[in-house]
Amino acid sequence: MKICQSCGMPMNTETLYGKNADGSKNEDYCTYCYPEGSFNNPSETLQEMIESCIPFMMKEGYSESDARDYLVKNLTGLKRWQ
Ligand SMILES: [Zn+2]
Repeated sequence: MKICQSCGMPMNTETLYGKNADGSKNEDYCTYCYPEGSFNNPSETLQEMIESCIPFMMKEGYSESDARDYLVKNLTGLKRWQ
């Protein structure tokens, strides 16, 4: 399964893929990160991405520190943050 190379979200259906400027699908990034040929928030840093994902993970039952550990481990290696 592909995961978004920006936020780490699993993209298990085609509708979650991002879009290139010409309307074709972008299989590297999800529709939230890369909606229309560019990043939703181009100047976002890895640290900001991690902070913005933590509340969503806490809703799924992670503690804040577990969520942060998980995100640091899983987002650091993604293409966008190289
Ligand atoms: Zn994403």
